[in-house]
Amino acid sequence: MTALSPAVALTRELLRCPSVTPVDAGALEVLERMLRSAGFACARKIFSEPGAADVDNLFAKFGTGRPHLVFAGHTDVVPPGDLQRWRFQPFSGEIAEGKIFGRGASDMKGAIAAFAVATLDYLRRHGSVKGAISFLITGDEEGPSINGTVKLLDWARSQGEIFDHCIVGEPTNVSALGDMMKIGRRGSLNGSIVVRGKQGHVAYPERAHNPVPAIARIAAALAGHELDRGTAHFACSNLEVTSIDVGNPTVNVIPAQARMSFNVRFNDLWTPETLQARIREIAQAAAGDTAIEIDFAPCNARAFLTEPGAFTRLVARAIEEATGRKPELSTTGGTSDARFIVRDCPVVEFGLLNETIHAVDENASIADIDALTAIYGRVLEYYFGAP
Ligand SMILES: [Zn+2]
Repeated sequence: MTALSPAVALTRELLRCPSVTPVDAGALEVLERMLRSAGFACARKIFSEPGAADVDNLFAKFGTGRPHLVFAGHTDVVPPGDLQRWRFQPFSGEIAEGKIFGRGASDMKGAIAAFAVATLDYLRRHGSVKGAISFLITGDEEGPSINGTVKLLDWARSQGEIFDHCIVGEPTNVSALGDMMKIGRRGSLNGSIVVRGKQGHVAYPERAHNPVPAIARIAAALAGHELDRGTAHFACSNLEVTSIDVGNPTVNVIPAQARMSFNVRFNDLWTPETLQARIREIAQAAAGDTAIEIDFAPCNARAFLTEPGAFTRLVARAIEEATGRKPELSTTGGTSDARFIVRDCPVVEFGLLNETIHAVDENASIADIDALTAIYGRVLEYYFGAP
């Protein structure tokens, strides 16, 4: 077998740490050791919160001053699921048919390995950097996202760190490396509605008040309402009814209450507050004079956008030169930790393919990991030039 490239070898080393959220299993240690020996100042920060697991995180920095470019990512992974269905052990980093297999290969240990190797290559070539390069690596992105990026950014700010631009290595490509980068994400809001009626016998409806027709009307009204028609960089906002629960096992009882849940993915026309107000209006209008209770879960995912400009052009140019593909600048998909970083600086997301993420036999093409390393290397060249 031919020797592995440094980025693929590092991917494999990271894959062999079974770092299922919130466990680190040595993954951060692998990175810290490598960055420290290249002259990075490293800080390991363990954050805790009542009711949540402690999470280990790593902040590593080389250089001083501005500009300050930060690569962000997470070493934690989702559980492998049914081990019997995996072709190889999910934490073995097995290589076959030009791919490296393992939980986290695409999401996102391959990208972390690529930016670590690209950065070390840059520093070997140039000796130093005009400005600073940091790594913001967290351990609970796939979990509650409480003891990771948010707190690590708070800590970095308290140390006086100012970031100019950030690249998050989440898997963004759909069918080939270079086809998509993300410049924003829609927001996400969860809510529930309860209609309280009055329980009774189905044969005596005049003595009861059935909440089911009202919850059905509300669900239809919310699902059918056009919130907007999209914006320059975003698709239209969308509300999905995710559940309607009455929990009535009988055939002759009018139930006392009915409940529904919904999720809204919203664009930059809305804030969580304006969206909540609109949803209340629609639901109340559909309920008529039936009393309803609406609750919203705390929203930590606002819509955000990095306006296309010099930085997005620089990253897109690096991608196009290395792959021959002009990346689409997209805001599709779920939320990511980029939503927290965007408060500090413009953020773009670019990593591997998202085809097998969170699935059985997650894998990444070895050629893609090497090409991604070359892309990040070009980004560093264009961003900092030669010192
Ligand atoms: Zn991820």
